[in-house]
Amino acid sequence: MNRRQQQSKFSLLLCLLLMSGCAIFYTAIDENTPPPVDWPELKITKHVVSHKEMNAVCSKYGKGWIACAVMDLHAKTCDIWMSKDHMNVYIEWHEEMHCKGYDHPGSTTITGLINEYRAKTAEAK
Ligand SMILES: [Zn+2]
Repeated sequence: MNRRQQQSKFSLLLCLLLMSGCAIFYTAIDENTPPPVDWPELKITKHVVSHKEMNAVCSKYGKGWIACAVMDLHAKTCDIWMSKDHMNVYIEWHEEMHCKGYDHPGSTTITGLINEYRAKTAEAK
């Protein structure tokens, strides 16, 4: 094997290793859209658990997550579940941004949550 082949083999391996962690980097936070004005301040609790435990919570919201934020606007809580195998500052920041009412570009998750919250608060009055 020559030097060039060795190098390309190394890049491939690195990419494979990073792949699971890379997924979330393609799911950006839309920082240009401010959170809803009446988004309540949520108490953030961080749970750093095994990949399996994280998956047990996060798989309710779809497949292939490496972290997720479970928001309860009525209880004013935001629970961040992170897999200790894939922890990094970006993921932590990303999930915290969700707790603060930021969404992914083009996603309607935050809008859906706030609409439901507004409807229930109006009912209670
Ligand atoms: Zn996200």
